[in-house]
Amino acid sequence: MSSQRTFSIIKPDAMRKGHAGAILAEIDKAGFRIVAIKKLFLSKSQAEGFYYVHAHRPFFDSLTTFMSSGTIIALALEKENAIADLRKLMGATNPANAEEGTIRKKFAGSIEENAIHGSDAEDTAAFEIGYFFAGLELV
Ligand code: GDP
Repeated sequence: MSSQRTFSIIKPDAMRKGHAGAILAEIDKAGFRIVAIKKLFLSKSQAEGFYYVHAHRPFFDSLTTFMSSGTIIALALEKENAIADLRKLMGATNPANAEEGTIRKKFAGSIEENAIHGSDAEDTAAFEIGYFFAGLELV
């Protein structure tokens, strides 16, 4: 399979707990190339725009409040099979169900405060990369 891009966020819980460096090391060790990276602090409405597909879910308000509660690191990543491989490295949404050795098993505290985001498909990856990065920032 040829090279594929995905999008990731180190979420506010992991930033607050000082896990950003360790998570970046896991991403690096797994063979992802960083195409773009930035640290930022989302507003509530920016978080709502990012998670618009979940707008009808009961946890939408709580999730977007959490995602705008502190700084995050946004990442565009590249490797073969990047989308599926990052999802595997992250582990299940609920850390209680995450496999041993995954980022969420190691660093997530709850189903909401689960340390990391990763795109779930090619169309969402393209939307999410474009939401955070301009074309000239992808190198
Ligand atoms: P992901 O692709 O594994 O991140 O999971 P989803 O796309 O289903 O959900 C997006 C994010 O919403 C998750 O990463 C969690 O932060 C949060 N979330 C998912 N399910 C729940 C839930 O049942 N309750 C709460 N409070 N948050 C949730």
